[in-house]
Amino acid sequence: MSNTQNTHNVAASGRDFDFFYAGLERQELLAQKCAACGALRNPPAPACPSCQSLKWEPVALAGHGIIFSFMVHHHPPLRDFPVPLPVALVDMAEGIRMTGPMEGTPPDSLRIGLPVAVEFVRRGDVAAFRFKLI
Ligand code: ZN
Repeated sequence: MSNTQNTHNVAASGRDFDFFYAGLERQELLAQKCAACGALRNPPAPACPSCQSLKWEPVALAGHGIIFSFMVHHHPPLRDFPVPLPVALVDMAEGIRMTGPMEGTPPDSLRIGLPVAVEFVRRGDVAAFRFKLI
């Protein structure tokens, strides 16, 4: 994928993610909740992986969890992010996992099992989020 001005979170998100980015504009971290069986899911997808229902509603997450795993991105350089960039896979309090950047957190301070919370930020014109250690 080329790193051009057109490469952008929202432009590249696809319609499944539209509600998620709309939630970030309101400083809400949203996930899909199946309207048929109640299962939460992330990342966004058209159908419930548990019951295949296409009906769902957005629900706001509490915004905290535990680091399940993490990596530190070094190369290539990223638009809108400093490198090295920690990226965490977080077990959210609601039981689903969510991936998020942790720019501003020293990579050496990350450990599996540490608690994190969401912080809403803006990257240019785009509402976004990152995780920070708590
Ligand atoms: Zn379901």
